[in-house]
This record gives sequence, C-alpha cells and structure tokens, in this order.
Amino acid sequence: MWNQYLKPETVSDALELVNYYGKKSRLVAGGTDLILALTEGRVPPCEALIDISNILELRAIRTTNGWIEIGACASLSDLICSPVIQYHAPILIAAAKQIAGPQIRNLATLGGNIVNASPAADMVPPLLVHDAVVCTKSIDLTGREIPLQDFMIGPRQVNLYPGELVKSIRLPFPPDGVRYLFRKVQPRRSMAIAILNLAILIKIENNRINHIRIAMGAVAPTPSRIRSVEQKLTNQTLKTVKNSST
Ligand SMILES: Cc1cc2nc3c(=O)[nH]c(=O)nc-3n(C[C@H](O)[C@H](O)[C@H](O)COP(=O)(O)OP(=O)(O)OC[C@H]3O[C@@H](n4cnc5c(N)ncnc54)[C@H](O)[C@@H]3O)c2cc1C
Repeated sequence: MWNQYLKPETVSDALELVNYYGKKSRLVAGGTDLILALTEGRVPPCEALIDISNILELRAIRTTNGWIEIGACASLSDLICSPVIQYHAPILIAAAKQIAGPQIRNLATLGGNIVNASPAADMVPPLLVHDAVVCTKSIDLTGREIPLQDFMIGPRQVNLYPGELVKSIRLPFPPDGVRYLFRKVQPRRSMAIAILNLAILIKIENNRINHIRIAMGAVAPTPSRIRSVEQKLTNQTLKTVKNSST
C-alpha cells in the first residue's frame, strides 16, 4: 500500500517531502480515514506516507488577536480537553464527543475530518456556525486563508493545491452571550455515521432572536449554512409553541 513511512517534525520538512514525492505521496495525520481507505483499496497505493501528527506547531490550540486558532493536527481528544475550546467554542466539544470512541478520538484530527470531506463529517457544521477559516501552507511558505464553506467543493473534494497542507483552522471570537446546540441523528446510539448533523449558534435578547447561525451536514454533497432559515428567524420574538393536538 506504501513503501516508505516518513515522520517529519517541522512544517517546512513536511512540505519539502511533499514537494519531493509529489503525487506519489500522501499526507497522513491520525490515519483513521486514510489507512482504512488504503487497506480497502478505495485510495490507490503510494510511494510515501508523510505523517504530520508529530509536528508540535500543528497541534497547538490557542487564542490570538480575536481568533481561536486550532492546529490542523489537534486530535478530537485534544479539543475535548482544551480549556480554550471549552470557553470559546464548546459546540466543538459536543460534536467531538459524538465521534467514534476514545481510541479513534485520540488519533483522529480536526484537519483530517475537514480534508477527508465526508458530507457527514461531524466537526464541519459546528465549525461553519463559527465562521471558520482554513489556513494553508505551501512549499514556498506562503499560505491562504479560505472560508470553510468555500474550502469544501464536494464529497471527498477540497480546495487544496498540490503541495499544500492545512496548517490550522481559525475561528473569530463568537458574539458575547451566544448559546449552542449540536444534534446528531444516527442509526445507533454511538459509533455510527450521521444521517443528519445540526449545529446552531444563537443569541437571544429580551425574548428576541438577535443572532442565529444554522448549519447542517449529511443532507447535501457538502455541509452548509442554512441562510434562508437564519434570515427568517432573525429578529423573531420567541413564542410558546402550543401542542397542535390540544
Ligand atoms: C471506527 C470509526 C468511526 C468513525 N466515526 C466518525 C464519526 O462518527 N463522525 C465523523 O465525522 N468521522 C468519523 N470517523 C472518521 C474519522 O475518524 C474522522 O474523519 C477523522 O477526524 C479523520 O482525521 P484523521 O487525522 O484520522 O485523518 P487521516 O485519515 O489522517 O486523513 C484524512 C485525509 O485528510 C488528509 N489530511 C489530513 N490532515 C491533513 C492536513 N493537515 N493537510 C492536508 N491534508 C490532510 C489526508 O491526506 C487524507 O486524505 C470514524 C472513523 C472510524 C475508523
């Protein structure tokens, strides 16, 4: 399936390897999607696997100048344990806890969940309601910042150039006083792919919806924001809904 397994320790070393092996190589982070795809023959064999999970700068979770910055190789367990995420973006924790079991979550990364580009990827709707931006790095050390919605092109397709990797995912600080909801509809209680995943970020003031962002996954080729519903609900006053059968 592959001839060489390489484990660089810096981003520039990783990019040099990507540049050297070109199309004969593949990046691997946690490997929970890719290794399975290689062993099952859904992805063609390659000369070199370039494992970026050891690169410390790709694992950092921090805040900088009004942004929450999450290294692409932060694992789902790293997110769950992060005080920064708990404080600023707890919906990511709610979503990560719904993915697989602890063994997979210890390996699976946020970057891998995005680049794998499954329509049902559970981390994507929560990132969309946070207006996430994907930050990349290329061999010449230039980078791009792409809104997550534009990064996802279709099932298993993302807006990543050859020789480019995802360095981090950035979220602007959310408005003060927002609340969150994440729901996953799945055929079993755990260890299942979503039939629907839904993320909502909402701010209610004086019984009125001041701000709302809604994103859904598993119902279209890529997860996306439901802007028409957001517009209809913004500025609506909350009413008690009566049971129609009474
Ligand atoms: C038993 C099991 C249960 C699962 N349950 C769920 C679930 O409930 N919900 C869910 O959403 N997912 C689930 N998954 C899928 C998987 O665990 C996640 O998608 C995970 O986040 C992928 O991350 P990874 O680091 O393992 O990616 P990898 O397998 O390492 O990589 C996936 C793809 O992304 C590319 N890539 C990775 N990192 C980068 C980067 N920084 N830059 C550029 N390219 C990169 C790789 O080249 C590869 O093409 C499950 C998997 C298993 C095996």
